[in-house]
Amino acid sequence: MTPPDFLIPSPLHLLKDPVLEKSGIEFYLKRDDLIHAEISGNKWRKLKYNLIKAEELGFKKLLTFGGAYSNHIYATAAAGHYFGFDTLGIIRGNELDSRANLTLRFASEMGMEFIFTERNDYRSKEWFYEKFSQEYYIIPEGGSNSFAIPGTAEITDEIYSELIPDYIACAVGTGGTLAGIISKCHAQTRVIGFSALKNGSFLQDDILQLTGNQAIFCSWEIETENYHFGGYAKTKPTLIEFIKAFEIRNPGVKLDQVYTGKMMFGLYDMIQKNSIKSGTKIVAIHTGGLQGRSPLLDQ
Ligand SMILES: *Cc1c(COP(=O)(O)O)cnc(C)c1O
Repeated sequence: MTPPDFLIPSPLHLLKDPVLEKSGIEFYLKRDDLIHAEISGNKWRKLKYNLIKAEELGFKKLLTFGGAYSNHIYATAAAGHYFGFDTLGIIRGNELDSRANLTLRFASEMGMEFIFTERNDYRSKEWFYEKFSQEYYIIPEGGSNSFAIPGTAEITDEIYSELIPDYIACAVGTGGTLAGIISKCHAQTRVIGFSALKNGSFLQDDILQLTGNQAIFCSWEIETENYHFGGYAKTKPTLIEFIKAFEIRNPGVKLDQVYTGKMMFGLYDMIQKNSIKSGTKIVAIHTGGLQGRSPLLDQ
């Protein structure tokens, strides 16, 4: 299920950022953004075992849910195209507002069909499950279900095959990526998730549930207060300026403002405040998401 044009294992790059060199921290970026141009980052990790399962069960069609700018919708549409599944996206919002956006235009070019739902009835997914589960393999919003976990757990396996970091850091939306990472971490590594949403305190329970409530051997936490910048997909000028400056100091690395930019801002802030100490090794996961990069970052 991993075709030759996928870059797996994804590279681990040591950042040569002058700001970090002063801190005495070895800072690596796990470049899941380079896995594939269209099925990038953690979305491929989460889809992999879902696609294997769908095939095993004899499904020819995938159905999933997401917002009009969703990285998961984008990746699922592309995966359907490359692996021979028809795809149906249940899109939150109204058709006239959404049709022109680049994410859905790409998904449509990949053959995805859409059902647009108004924001209120979007939440009642049972209807879609009842109506479509005979014909479609259904993947939840964000791709996070029990089959996502063995895929995202491979991130930790790949890291440990190169080094044992003191910290692994990752952006958190639905928690499927973090759940897989902590499921394989040893006690030497501490894991920090950075919530991309406001009021993310429910994530802790969601993540434990996603791991199947198995024993977790590392300490892990989710930073839910300080780095969400007002909430999901919200930005502030300080975040945009941080990302632009980061990209100038680290040529070849681009960040998005929804996930990886907020994680990186948080990590640099913790390093500056000395809550991450000199002499430690950090691996931050570049989860991809560059299709959703704001044009503000290129101005
Ligand atoms: C979806 C996404 C996340 C969040 O992953 P979860 O498994 O939902 O927590 C993080 N980073 C990027 C770039 C994403 O697209």
